[in-house]
Amino acid sequence: MHHMNFPAYRGSMEYYCLGCDSHFPIDELHYTCPKCGGIFLLRDNSFDSLKEYSGQKWRDIFDSRAMAKDATLRGVFRFYELMAPVLDRQDIVFLGEGQSPIVDFSHSLRSELGGQRGAYKNEGQNPSASFKDRGMACAFSFLNRLSRTQENGDILAVCASTGDTSAAAALYASYAGKRVKSVVLLPQGKVTPQQLAQPLGSGARVLEVPGCFDDCMKVVEYLADNYRVALLNSKNAWRILGQESYAFEIAQWYDWDLKGKCVFVPIGNAGNITAIMAGFLKLYHLNIINELPRIFGVQSHHADPVYRYYAVNDPKERHFEPVNVQPSVAQAAMIGNPVSFPRVKHFVKQYETIGGVKAFQVVQVTEQDIMEGMLQANRNGHIACTQGGECLAGLKRARKLGIIDEEEIAILDSTAHMLKFIGFQDMYFNNSFPVEYGVTPDAQRANTPHLIIDALEKMALSAEEYTIKTAERIVDMLGLSKR
Ligand SMILES: *Cc1c(COP(=O)(O)O)cnc(C)c1O
Ligand SMILES: [Zn+2]
Repeated sequence: MHHMNFPAYRGSMEYYCLGCDSHFPIDELHYTCPKCGGIFLLRDNSFDSLKEYSGQKWRDIFDSRAMAKDATLRGVFRFYELMAPVLDRQDIVFLGEGQSPIVDFSHSLRSELGGQRGAYKNEGQNPSASFKDRGMACAFSFLNRLSRTQENGDILAVCASTGDTSAAAALYASYAGKRVKSVVLLPQGKVTPQQLAQPLGSGARVLEVPGCFDDCMKVVEYLADNYRVALLNSKNAWRILGQESYAFEIAQWYDWDLKGKCVFVPIGNAGNITAIMAGFLKLYHLNIINELPRIFGVQSHHADPVYRYYAVNDPKERHFEPVNVQPSVAQAAMIGNPVSFPRVKHFVKQYETIGGVKAFQVVQVTEQDIMEGMLQANRNGHIACTQGGECLAGLKRARKLGIIDEEEIAILDSTAHMLKFIGFQDMYFNNSFPVEYGVTPDAQRANTPHLIIDALEKMALSAEEYTIKTAERIVDMLGLSKR
């Protein structure tokens, strides 16, 4: 066995309310502040003691763990001291999440983008095929600790979702076994077959209600306020904590040198962009990195409340207003009133204090740009989902606005696997988009299968004739020359 020593450091964590500044101990799962209903961050009050080690020492520790064959240090807990340093080894769940590959733009993509340097970080290569697994690994590890230390240890994990949150929650709950049961509440008829298949396959109890995501959300929040259930939507601060690992991995991959790096992130409920800023700030405060990368949030014009807020230059003139969303191919980011918006404001302020006003920006893109971004990425060897396409559209927009240079390295978040959102590709290729999306397919880009011999012709031929005839048609079609 090549077990590393499990980290010895233990932090003193508590919930910290962004609404009323109250603190609460972590001996139970709080979803929102019991005093004011505000949202929480998790804070380690011993964090400053980590500064006793130099940045170099921390870099060495994290780099050496990259070779560990200890499953508990393989995923998001490679960065244990920065994550949830209250857990024991036995609490930690590892289903292969985290350490997702960063794949440089192919030469062809780079040249189509006028020489722009960049890479995709493929979050679709997480176990349930989205970045949500990072947060779930952390949240379920904490639930394990709770169920180990509490009398009545059984846990009912609940979430409202139309897609990736429920897939991830159901997967981690089913791995946890009999002590954890999961329930997923979905809006009836508003989920794709793939999105429905994942929690069903993991054995979650899937409940449907007529209405939309917001209706489901209100029901599960009522349950969490009044009954003993663990609510796993992204208001849950343990999820945000796990998602910080995305930032740590980018820093480590680029050898802790983030000069000239620009991180593009789609914004839905804004949990992910919150976590990414929080993560880079932690690294900066421990001198593990000397410079913050720039962050570019990306939103569709059909769901752009965060873009609108930051589009007002004078901070004193800004005020937040939810928007009514219109249908978006970046469906996982189609949210008009992001629950983590107070967290975004909190971290943007810190981020700009250190990195200047250009350190955080939000760009807006069209639905057409998003679809074409996804198709362009994937035709050039990547595996972007629609939200990954949104990031590429965001990069092109930033180039057009002159706010990014081609020599900077753009790191695009493909938040899920392309296969989860493949229905949108079908609509584009088959020219079957409902008008509300505002996407007009370009027939040049359509790719559909060609039948080269039909069943009737096949019946009339012997097996050998069939092989030869089919092959000859392919020869004609492709213009092959004899060898
Ligand atoms: C959840 C999700 C998003 C949006 O992330 P937020 O944290 O809600 O901003 C984007 N893409 C995918 C694939 C998601 O599952
Ligand atoms: Zn509060």
